[in-house]
Amino acid sequence: MPPNLGVKIPGPMSYPAQGVKLFLTQAREFPPQFNRSKFIKDKSKVLVVTAHPDDECMFFAPTILNLLRQSCHVYLLCLSSGGFYNESSIRKEELRQSCKILGIPAGNLIIIEHSQLPDNPEVKWSRLKVSSIILKYVRHLSATVVISFDQSGVSGHLNHIAVYDGLESLIFKGLLSEDCEVYLLKSVFLFQKYLGFLIVPLLYMCVSFSFASTFHDVKTIWKSMKEHKSQFVWFRKLYIVFSQYVYMNTFIKCQNKTLVQKDM
Ligand SMILES: [Zn+2]
Repeated sequence: MPPNLGVKIPGPMSYPAQGVKLFLTQAREFPPQFNRSKFIKDKSKVLVVTAHPDDECMFFAPTILNLLRQSCHVYLLCLSSGGFYNESSIRKEELRQSCKILGIPAGNLIIIEHSQLPDNPEVKWSRLKVSSIILKYVRHLSATVVISFDQSGVSGHLNHIAVYDGLESLIFKGLLSEDCEVYLLKSVFLFQKYLGFLIVPLLYMCVSFSFASTFHDVKTIWKSMKEHKSQFVWFRKLYIVFSQYVYMNTFIKCQNKTLVQKDM
């Protein structure tokens, strides 16, 4: 017979009662705050690096909203002005409005317009140019956290992948300070990308580096996406309803030049 350690083991009949009690306790926290793990410290200076106007709300919005709640200083560095259809000025204004809705201060938005970095899915951007721009702003802002795409760039867009390539070169050359943490937004399979919202609670339990949206956040993200009027076509309307990236972001951490992935 095992020794009695003084722990009271409940009888089978008490489990439903405990379940109801737990449910009521959790319900008090409704809507839940999903940033409990706080893998990024409060008040950090965070640089989010994207390739195009609209990437911020299509892919990174759950993170941006959670970080702003943590009183982080969130800066957005967008490496192009989205001129694929020669609508740069329209898209820059749409990006400003989107950031306003998300809560990123106007002064924290940096839009790069460079001939070597065109908005074009068939053009691979110069790794050197991308890395030098990212490094310039990391140092200028004294950013302690950098967030961007992983090697698959979420959608496989060459410009997204080029952002990763530039960041990777900074990491592996050791040009970022040791205090600077880098998190890469994890690309997921197509099925999970569009139906992943169904498994958000499971992901939340299994993934260490993640941010999820509250119900209010989802409404904010839809509103900010609507500001990208030139892009708000039918398939993007479907995207913002079904995409996992509206409901949750999961990350891979770069640490000492290696990738740390503590999840499923
Ligand atoms: Zn993009």
